[in-house]
Amino acid sequence: MHRHHTIFASARCTLVVVIAASALFLQSGGPGRVAAQAPALAPARRLAQAAAPLVFGHTPWAVLLCKFSDQPQEPQPPSYFAQFMTDAGAGAGGLYDYWHDVSYGNIDFAGSVVKGWYTESVTLAQARAKSRYDRISDCINAASSAAVAPYTVPANYHIAVMVNAAFDAGSAGGRVILDAGSWDDLSFAAHEMGHGYGLDHSFSSGPSGCADNGEYGDAWDIMSAMCVSTRHAGPYRDGGPGLAGPYLDRMGWLPIHRVYSLGQEGTGSATITLAALNHPEAAGSMLAKVPFDVSNPFHYYTVEFRRATGWDAGIPRDTVLIHEVRPGGHSYLITDNGGPEWQPGQTFQDAAHGISIGVGSIDSASSTATVTLTGADYCVQGYVWREATAGDHVCVTPQTRAQASADNGQAGAHRAPNGGAYGPDTCLQGYVWREATPTDHVCVTLQTRAQASADNGQAAPRRVLSGNNYGPNSCTQGYVWREATAADYVCVPPQTRAQAAADNGQAAAHRAPNGGAYGPDTCLSGYVWREATLGDHVCVTPQSRAQAAADDQQALSRIATH
Ligand SMILES: [Zn+2]
Repeated sequence: MHRHHTIFASARCTLVVVIAASALFLQSGGPGRVAAQAPALAPARRLAQAAAPLVFGHTPWAVLLCKFSDQPQEPQPPSYFAQFMTDAGAGAGGLYDYWHDVSYGNIDFAGSVVKGWYTESVTLAQARAKSRYDRISDCINAASSAAVAPYTVPANYHIAVMVNAAFDAGSAGGRVILDAGSWDDLSFAAHEMGHGYGLDHSFSSGPSGCADNGEYGDAWDIMSAMCVSTRHAGPYRDGGPGLAGPYLDRMGWLPIHRVYSLGQEGTGSATITLAALNHPEAAGSMLAKVPFDVSNPFHYYTVEFRRATGWDAGIPRDTVLIHEVRPGGHSYLITDNGGPEWQPGQTFQDAAHGISIGVGSIDSASSTATVTLTGADYCVQGYVWREATAGDHVCVTPQTRAQASADNGQAGAHRAPNGGAYGPDTCLQGYVWREATPTDHVCVTLQTRAQASADNGQAAPRRVLSGNNYGPNSCTQGYVWREATAADYVCVPPQTRAQAAADNGQAAAHRAPNGGAYGPDTCLSGYVWREATLGDHVCVTPQSRAQAAADDQQALSRIATH
């Protein structure tokens, strides 16, 4: 079954070999293989690297087919690889469909090509003596120096090399290599392409059974392949699972307003509905983030709901999953403390940080789950809890907190002793209910009441790590998410964001009312599609379109580093 892998023979991959031995039996029960990353990079080095950023739009792949000089066979025609790895395979259950579905349409393979078969200058035996990176380079060089139909890979293309013998499969430096034993395995190939998109492996909070350090420990995430729950449907050997929530968030594929951040309403606890990650049509948030580390905005929990359908059909059951995202952006599935599968009635506790995450219900029919999140309550510098009433954690200045305390002390003195038009809580002339919270009937001055209302309006921004000021794709100072489309995380100056919103407001007015040469989205004369993100057909001026393209080019440089 799993013949091969010269990586097994490579001294630098000893760790990977150990991982493989257990992985084969613990996971999907079928043939398995551990996908190995670049042998040249030690795990410690990779952990220190900046994590993968935002990926959107066209992501073309150059698929190069190579033969060793002593191996003339061509095991599959180029059309096989076009089906497997380019948009020619749309709808055919291959990698195009996988990434289209998992990215919610935020990426495609437009521009991808299949080239070859080319003949390398080295024999199979000679190639075995080389590093994986050099093995890949040999094929790239064979393509560019070929006497017939030479091909040089454009600078912005991802690279996947296919070699014609059982040899090696994995990735190095973000470049993929597959062989005849792996190019029918969609899970394996998808994992390696994930490296091509900049993703590193995923982890579990404890030893995973696949690695002592938890690497490959998330059976619900393709970046733990081949220690994952795969489905067995469609034309390829394995398929799925999808990407776990933390990496979907990192790639910028979740609609901005469907990522719930505990504290965004200024409260430390909330019960919310989660839509299954692979059922975006369901109502609810697709990911919840629970911040807990005031010292580091890149350290938090995430909560997601997964349904055993589609690319996730191989997971054991519908379940809530909790991940810890650690500084550097790596995702750790919480497997201890009752995990990894969180079912109704179960609650994850992190007592040290005051966090609890409980599952209320799972409703497979609607692809939703309810969870109750209780998180750390921290105010930003200079603010403290108001505590006008018990549990009132709205963040206010110390003076306002002192005022609230003083007003509480005077509550009896400011209340009409015999009640009145508003019942027993009726205030004396000149005083009104404070209503810092809905049931707060302490009698205060009009000015103090207005202050309470104003403070309530500022509750969210005064909390540490509330809203979108933490996590992946946070913008550097002075920039904000453009939000031209639902999952547009490109950071732009505030005025560009305002322009995008204004353009969206004028979308219908700038579109040809009866359609035209470009279909129903055809623009009026003088307007063009903005194309800020894939499929963005909002009609804007050519200047707005050029601005969007320029901002897209700057996207990675405007993301706060981890
Ligand atoms: Zn890998």
